[in-house]
Amino acid sequence: MDKIELSKHIKQGDTFYTPYTDPNGLGATLSISSWANCWLPEFLWIGLIVKKQGRKKGLESLYHIIEDLKRDDMAIPQLSKIFELSGEQQKKYWSIVTRYVEGNILLPLTVVITPDINETFYDFFFDFSMSVDDNISELLDIAKETNRFHDELSTDICFIVDWFYVLKGKLHISSEIDILPTALSEYYKHNHKDEVMRAYRPIIRSTFQGLCNLDCSKEFSERIWKVLGKISECNPLVIVWDEEASMDFYKIANQTIEYFSANNEDKKMESKYAVIMGMTCYIYKIYQEIVEKQMQNGIAGRILFRTMLETYINLKYMMQQESEVSDIYERFKAYGNGKYKLVMAKLREEKYTVSDDSQIDEKIMELIVNEDMDEAFVNMSVGYFDKTGVRTKFHKCGEDELYEIYYEYATNYAHGIWGAIRESSMLICDNPAHTYHCVPDYHMDQNLRSVLGDCEMVMKKTFDAIAAYIELPDFYTI
Ligand SMILES: [Zn+2]
Repeated sequence: MDKIELSKHIKQGDTFYTPYTDPNGLGATLSISSWANCWLPEFLWIGLIVKKQGRKKGLESLYHIIEDLKRDDMAIPQLSKIFELSGEQQKKYWSIVTRYVEGNILLPLTVVITPDINETFYDFFFDFSMSVDDNISELLDIAKETNRFHDELSTDICFIVDWFYVLKGKLHISSEIDILPTALSEYYKHNHKDEVMRAYRPIIRSTFQGLCNLDCSKEFSERIWKVLGKISECNPLVIVWDEEASMDFYKIANQTIEYFSANNEDKKMESKYAVIMGMTCYIYKIYQEIVEKQMQNGIAGRILFRTMLETYINLKYMMQQESEVSDIYERFKAYGNGKYKLVMAKLREEKYTVSDDSQIDEKIMELIVNEDMDEAFVNMSVGYFDKTGVRTKFHKCGEDELYEIYYEYATNYAHGIWGAIRESSMLICDNPAHTYHCVPDYHMDQNLRSVLGDCEMVMKKTFDAIAAYIELPDFYTI
């Protein structure tokens, strides 16, 4: 399916609907069916015949089966519909099938079509000497080969189902679509590798789709998947990321920070210096922690990267606003002190008490709050230090991409939103019978693509931003 551009989404309330789900448009009438979830279990028996007899022989056998079934007025391909026939008719149905197909070909289905689902089928095919494990693995092989609607074996199944309807006289061929009769009569003669099959396969599938929306039972399919899902194990897949990163820039950044510390004696008493270099140092320390503690492939690396970004944008924004708001650095500090005061005062006034083991140290907080002036003069603001939202700051700094891509992505990690949970802590299960569900990564196997490249980018941007105020060393030429 083609991807839908963002601009084609329709906003309603706080949701952007795709053209297919717009509640006022198509979405009102369209119910989304899925091949694997709703249709495939109905036709697993056809898949088994084609796969186990071989494509040519299997398709031929099925053609004869359909003809014989039609004579008895039982040409129905859906298992759920077959199971609605009388016991006698069902026995007749399967005896016709077994004229052309050995019973052991359909035997694996008795693992999922247990007597409580259909006793006639079970009695007809069950064999005490069978190996349950072998049968499960045969079913899983079929499920794997047919899991996607566009798979070759799936299309073979569609072809047979189409023929059920053709021979019943229920498929009316429009003369305008002249490729359909040709596709139906030529399909089985060709190998899937033949060029002409590229034209036939979509026709076969879309014809099937038109037919099957009416006659398939979602409940039946769900029941089959549930049984097969229960009796087969999860097979979680891990994507391993372990690229070697170049440490060249990290070394230069390290030396640059050293250079800052050895210079700038003239500026060290200024508030501006404290704020700008404090923030630069904060960004650098986070970068260093990620590198030294090798957090680049973990969740923490992403959350830390977001903090680097946010600190950088505040830094750049303040430098830009400096000419209009001359005391912007003092305001930034006061805002921060206010935030600390709010927490510290609640503890001091014993609204809450924290355990001695807690990370929070009331005394240190008190010291910080009173550092610039007595806390009696420290205001507490609960908004942004200059009332400007983070998005606006990115925009005013000409860093829209940083916000819309990097910051928005990392926010999923910082706030524990599903995309981040799925990417970092859930594994996709490769068992086709489990219809691609996800399982929690209990054993910490999944890692993530490294954040080092992006951290390097923010570190460079930070150095660029402060270059107008702080001299960079000659060796810094990036
Ligand atoms: Zn699973």
